Amino acid sequence: MPHRVIFRATLGGQDEVDCGHMSNPTSSSKFTYFFGSRSSGENLTEGKAEMKNLLGGKGANLAEMAKLGLPVPAGFTISTEACVHYYSNKKSYPASLKEEVATRLKTLEDVIGHKIGASDKPLLVSVRSGARASMPGMMDTILNLGLNDITVEALAKNSDNPRFAYDCYRRFIQMYSDVVLGIHVSQFEFLLEDMKSARKVQKDAELTGDDLKELVQKFKRKVLEESSNAFPQDPVEQLWGAIGAVFESWNGDRAIHYRKMENIPSDWGTAVNIQAMVFGNMGETSGTGVAFTRNPSSGENLLFGEYLTNAQGEDVVSGIRTPQPLTLDQKKRMGEAGLNLNSLEEEMPAVFKEFQKYQKLLETHYKDMQDLEFTIQEGRLYLLQTRNGKRTTQAAVKIAVDMVSEKLISEEQAVLRINPYSLDQLLHPRLDPKKKGTPLTKGLPASPGAVSGKVAFSSSQAEVLKAAGEKAILVRHETSPEDIQGMDASVGILTALGGMTSHAAVVARGMGKSCIVGCADLRIRYRDRCFEIEKGTEKIIIKEGDLITLDANTGEVFQGVIPTITSELNQDFEILMGWADKFRKLGVRTNADTPHDARTARQFGAEGIGLCRTEHMFFDADRIDAVRSMILSETQEERERALESILPMQRGDFVGIFREMRGLPVTIRLLDPPLHEFLPKTHEEIEALALKLETSVDRLDNKVKSLHEFNPMLGHRGCRLGISFPEIYEMQARAIAEAIVEAGKASGEAVQAEIMIPLIMEVKELESLRERIERVVSKILESAGLANNVLIGTMIEIPRAALLANEVARAADFFSFGTNDLTQMTLGISRDDSNRFLPEYVDLGLLSEDPFMSLDQSGVGQLVIMGVEKGRLTKPGLKTGVCGEHGGDPRSIEFFQKAGLDYVSCSPYRVPTARLAAAQAELKERLKL
Ligand code: PEP
Ligand code: MG
Repeated sequence: MPHRVIFRATLGGQDEVDCGHMSNPTSSSKFTYFFGSRSSGENLTEGKAEMKNLLGGKGANLAEMAKLGLPVPAGFTISTEACVHYYSNKKSYPASLKEEVATRLKTLEDVIGHKIGASDKPLLVSVRSGARASMPGMMDTILNLGLNDITVEALAKNSDNPRFAYDCYRRFIQMYSDVVLGIHVSQFEFLLEDMKSARKVQKDAELTGDDLKELVQKFKRKVLEESSNAFPQDPVEQLWGAIGAVFESWNGDRAIHYRKMENIPSDWGTAVNIQAMVFGNMGETSGTGVAFTRNPSSGENLLFGEYLTNAQGEDVVSGIRTPQPLTLDQKKRMGEAGLNLNSLEEEMPAVFKEFQKYQKLLETHYKDMQDLEFTIQEGRLYLLQTRNGKRTTQAAVKIAVDMVSEKLISEEQAVLRINPYSLDQLLHPRLDPKKKGTPLTKGLPASPGAVSGKVAFSSSQAEVLKAAGEKAILVRHETSPEDIQGMDASVGILTALGGMTSHAAVVARGMGKSCIVGCADLRIRYRDRCFEIEKGTEKIIIKEGDLITLDANTGEVFQGVIPTITSELNQDFEILMGWADKFRKLGVRTNADTPHDARTARQFGAEGIGLCRTEHMFFDADRIDAVRSMILSETQEERERALESILPMQRGDFVGIFREMRGLPVTIRLLDPPLHEFLPKTHEEIEALALKLETSVDRLDNKVKSLHEFNPMLGHRGCRLGISFPEIYEMQARAIAEAIVEAGKASGEAVQAEIMIPLIMEVKELESLRERIERVVSKILESAGLANNVLIGTMIEIPRAALLANEVARAADFFSFGTNDLTQMTLGISRDDSNRFLPEYVDLGLLSEDPFMSLDQSGVGQLVIMGVEKGRLTKPGLKTGVCGEHGGDPRSIEFFQKAGLDYVSCSPYRVPTARLAAAQAELKERLKL
């Protein structure tokens, strides 16, 4: 049926589902906050974890760790208020900021014992962004700030390692020039490549200190050439350049796109963290890594992480070197892939032990799985970041359930922790094991699910495929934040490089997309738009646009399309949903038109059917002609004869549905759409039908024309059909009543049937139809010796019905809000045509969301509230529900709870989402969150 709308994209992953929404920071005159301790032990930390709104997630957590006395390099945070000021004052800093930063820098110098720009012991800092909500990789970072021609020499002398010092300097120039001066990083990469070819070496690590020193000169010349200015030598000038660039990156394309995806308000701003540098690239006793206190993919309670010896910050997540596992157990689980890798546990056992202690402490402190960054400088461990880790929904459920049994959190907290929008990740399909065949290759299963799609080698190609209605699988060496749009446009992501914490893995998990990383034998040839895989002597070439299938549950990649089946829900899920059911007040029903859908929904926990659209039963290929002859009937007798042949089919459908829903209520809606939807459209179709119905083409053609409407959505549909052709609704009432008798006999249990009349605008319509239906139903039930407990209610889909709900309620046993039509008619926006302009409205901020996906609470919501209140004025306790698509949308569900509805009804696969969202709505009310 053309006017049905298909719903809805999931939102991201499980990062910090913060149910107490953050408010804007209150204005204060202080813009910087110190963290860290003096060597005397005096703790100078000013912030704490609760100050996330002001210090950003990273800043608040650094302060919290410093407060706990953990080894965090000292530093200070410039608050989000400074960024908000920057944007609301034509990009100027608060007047006091310069002085505050200078004072903080002085304290930092005292604490570290190094001075910014000093020729003996120079202080080097990192400058990193950090918003309230985590936006991994979406904003800019600068490391090694403070290096110049003088301090690099001091670093060389103090570390006794000129190669290291010049490596830091060239990285700094490259990063700073890219981020602050706008000189693309590739300009420097070309110079590095040239240097490697001149020296006839393959790897960066093979370049000597002198080579890097020469490279620094080349880099500086490049800066002069490109910007007409020498590379800034003054560290304070460098610092302000970096602060400005971080603020600017809040409004960079990547950040804006990510914010839209994750619903992060654009007026929050980012904080800036300025922190003393520690170095993971000072030789074999140094290193850097990331860790999750539990497995972010499966949720297993096992420390999980990756690190690299002798490496700096971004090397681990960039996917360029193969990272090493943290633990021995993790290495063993890697099988062959782990054979040549040393774990941290083996390589630096003392450091590992210390790390293990801290990670447990942090998890217990935050009562949630943590995502940590650490650096080891010459055998000394530093923690650089902790935050609640992103995780798959599977992992989120397992972690929440495990943490309740570990007594870390309560059942209520567990229920509140799961993002209901992400639940359908759990219902992601997997490959049909019978159809699997031999995989082409295998990588790491980074984010679960099984998908098929066409290969795209660039983000833009993925977007083109999506726009053409195709499914794309983005195939890259590795992904970077530039690929975010392409990842969003794809159904799956496959990379040749990278580990479980690579950019592709982390972002895909957050997005709930299937993703396989580190597929080492993928030879991607971007130029030729293909990838190659060698299998024995055979070389398989997959070209752009070819179909492949990813089984991201196992990491296997297949050629072509393989059918999928839906995952079974595990015990943890059942436990969590059990808690949700215990807490929620709203009932959850389903919209189902077939016994199969009814069964699926019941397995997902539906407590009845809230909407059975009977017209869907008319559309079946073997019935459509019977329906057509009913529509084309010239006389009532003809019509009744045609209806006679439809009756047993409808009755059979209802019996099937009643059987599946045994013991639960079933709401059946009588015929709703305009009649011409059933008729043939093209001349050929009319000819073929005329032949079948033994009528003339002209007659049929005229009938089709006579049924044409300019505005069918507001035309002859819904109860208006029942008024014009009472035989149709009478036949349906009969089919329902006879099915009640048949199903009741078979099960020995009374069927709880509810008949629902669509598109009522006036109580007289309902009274007249109700009378006829009741007559038919009573007669049949009485003669079968059954009590008539069939309820007759109405949909509230037309604003007038909501406005006059007190009158409508006189003739209704229940109301069900049809918010699809109610939205259409309240906003005056066609359900069929809105896609032409609605996305633009949302982009421009004219509407905050697509009102067909998430209820327009301030407009349509008022009618819902009014409908409930007025209806209950006439009939206290009147049963009310919603069966528009909003019944499966968590934000709308929260609203329906507040409006006092009794139940929501949604499509089968959204039933678990609705159950969880209903529980969260109740808990938020109860706990005043
Ligand atoms: C509605 O309008 O919200 C509804 C459930 O009915 P339909 O989508 O079938 O018009
Ligand atoms: Mg409707």
